[in-house]
Amino acid sequence: MKVILVPVTPFQQNCSIVICEATQRAAIVDPGGDIERIIAEVERQGVTVDKILLTHGHLDHCGGAKALADHYGIQIEGPHREDAFWIDQLPAQTQRFGFSNAEAFTPERWLDDGDAVQFGNESMEVYFCPGHTPGHVVFFSREHNLAFVGDVLFAGSIGRTDFPRGNQAELIRSIREKLWPLGDDVTFVPGHGPASTFGEERRSNPFVRDGAATGATA
Ligand SMILES: [Zn+2]
Ligand SMILES: [Zn+2]
Repeated sequence: MKVILVPVTPFQQNCSIVICEATQRAAIVDPGGDIERIIAEVERQGVTVDKILLTHGHLDHCGGAKALADHYGIQIEGPHREDAFWIDQLPAQTQRFGFSNAEAFTPERWLDDGDAVQFGNESMEVYFCPGHTPGHVVFFSREHNLAFVGDVLFAGSIGRTDFPRGNQAELIRSIREKLWPLGDDVTFVPGHGPASTFGEERRSNPFVRDGAATGATA
């Protein structure tokens, strides 16, 4: 599996082009915008895009999803149904933040804990990790020990919870109960900033390190 990061939108969101090298088929995780740059990178890689995968309903993660799905004639999978209220607000959010046009949509498939998503010969497990948004999901490739965590967890920080229906205690519980059991050596690609490993965050992340009180803020 090969991962190409394309930072998109004014928020420098890590859109990931995830490629099954055996079949040269790909999934695009969180195309928040700047879809012409995503399309150019797909062409440069010479791969066929199978589907779009979404971690959550925020503008910088799914603002380009509908246009990209229409461009390739492919379907959108994720996030969890609880984020529908965010996706419905995309057109209004677009105007507020000065993004290029984002259309609301209904994913062909809502995801839930225990689901799996496929592209090429690759399969990723789906984990429901609410807190940053109520319908946030995480994608995990067990074969490659790699997770796409959206805005749940960052190197040295965690997602904001000051949005409608955000909940910090729930977010911390999601991280500890859903992500940590996947293993310390799992590398994760966050929605913003550099990659890290779960083990490194358990050692040093002030919000969720081992021994830190639940709900602690730094
Ligand atoms: Zn977000
Ligand atoms: Zn984000």
